[in-house]
Amino acid sequence: MNKKRMLFASSEVYPFVKTGGLADVSHSLPRALNESYAVSVVLPLYSSIDRKQFKIKPIESFEIAMGGSLYAVEVYGTIYENVAYRFIYAPLLCDREFLYGPPECGYEDNALRFGLFSYAIAELLRREKYAIAHLNDWQCALAALLIKEDSTLETKCVYTIHNLAYQGVFPPSLLPQIGINESYFTMDALEFYNQVNFMKAGIAYADAVTTVSPTYAKEILTPEFGCGLEGFLHVHRRKLSGIINGIDPDHFSPSCDEALVEKYTNAKGKKSSKSDLLKQLGLKGSSKPLFAFIGRFTHQKGIDILVESLPKIAQMECNVVLLGEGEEGYRDALASLSEGYGNLHLSFGYDEVISHRMYAAADFLLMPSLFEPCGLNQMIAYAYGAVPIVNKVGGLADTVKKVESYDENTPFGYGVVFTSPTSRSLVAAVKKSCELYSDKKHFEAVVNHNMKCDFSWSESAKAYEGIYARLSK
Ligand code: ADP
Repeated sequence: MNKKRMLFASSEVYPFVKTGGLADVSHSLPRALNESYAVSVVLPLYSSIDRKQFKIKPIESFEIAMGGSLYAVEVYGTIYENVAYRFIYAPLLCDREFLYGPPECGYEDNALRFGLFSYAIAELLRREKYAIAHLNDWQCALAALLIKEDSTLETKCVYTIHNLAYQGVFPPSLLPQIGINESYFTMDALEFYNQVNFMKAGIAYADAVTTVSPTYAKEILTPEFGCGLEGFLHVHRRKLSGIINGIDPDHFSPSCDEALVEKYTNAKGKKSSKSDLLKQLGLKGSSKPLFAFIGRFTHQKGIDILVESLPKIAQMECNVVLLGEGEEGYRDALASLSEGYGNLHLSFGYDEVISHRMYAAADFLLMPSLFEPCGLNQMIAYAYGAVPIVNKVGGLADTVKKVESYDENTPFGYGVVFTSPTSRSLVAAVKKSCELYSDKKHFEAVVNHNMKCDFSWSESAKAYEGIYARLSK
């Protein structure tokens, strides 16, 4: 049987380029979908992508008319892990130091850059005839409107919100430059508090809208989590659903992870990863629990709470390691804390190898997020045998069960769960974790159980396929 063609569009895809979970999902979900659909993944060919390493070759070039200007666009391609990739190259979109802009601010011309990316997606749909376009986040959202506007295109469109906090909001003076008619500058289309909002295009014009966990799908309909779009999402709620993300077990597996000096398959096997990392970072005390934080230093990830809590946590019998990059204020606050405590180590930067070694070494992973659409870190933590400590929001509520209710006969992952994002709750959760850790037998049983849980895409990919099938009936 001929498989239907599907174009999966994303602004970042692992291993070509990654700033966060979107890249992981854009790699692993298409891989899972490729069994049932002929999937192509399209992303910008940023200058940081290694064309040689990934055998990326030119396919074709064309011009795109956007807002009265003509842009030369080149399409490149490769096959990676049996999935076809399309790369869009245009100097405006790709020749930058950062993907979206330096920390704390986006590039001023991001509307043009990702507007052009959306036009290129629509052009690919015309040229290569896809049944389904799956668009992700604000960077591809305008493509939903372009698809709807083109009566010759029969492609059905699914739009996924990975994080409602990033909507792609720009001054309305840019509308003519991105070739969008002023008639779309209304409340029920792209207008948002007198600005242009790209994400609204995805929500309004896609045939189905998804987000990355069932709990987040409900949360974003409330003022607390809706980032100003709760009313608009409410209008479109019939086409909104939440599908939990998965992780790629081939990429996140301590039994075959190239980043690890010693591979392992159970709690006991983590020992040397832990002592190696402590040694490498100049920390002492292999028998003490090791807490890790890996992620972006932003408000979302609960860094305010972490900064407030660390002086208390550091006084407990434990070690803490932090890896991340992000806002300067947070970096400074964390740096001065780590100088003050011998059991606290901070690494700045984005480093896949160190992050994998940290997951492998850690007994616990700290996730005090204020909101978390899905979160992949807790699933990666399970795979590597680190028990997650989480604030019960979004995807964390869907994927982490309270360790107090531990039952070895369930398929669920267990962690230490708190329910109010405060320093007090986090410190209490860390205390509880130290107690759990001291009950060696129980702790090991939980770790071994979590390591066996299935957080692959098998179920969630089927849920997406259900949506595609419904749309293309
Ligand atoms: P986000 O909101 O940042 O997308 P997710 O939990 O969805 O958060 O995914 C984060 C992904 O990025 C995980 O694969 C995590 O291991 C990785 N990650 C985050 N920060 C770093 C870092 N500083 N170095 C290496 N990997 C990181």
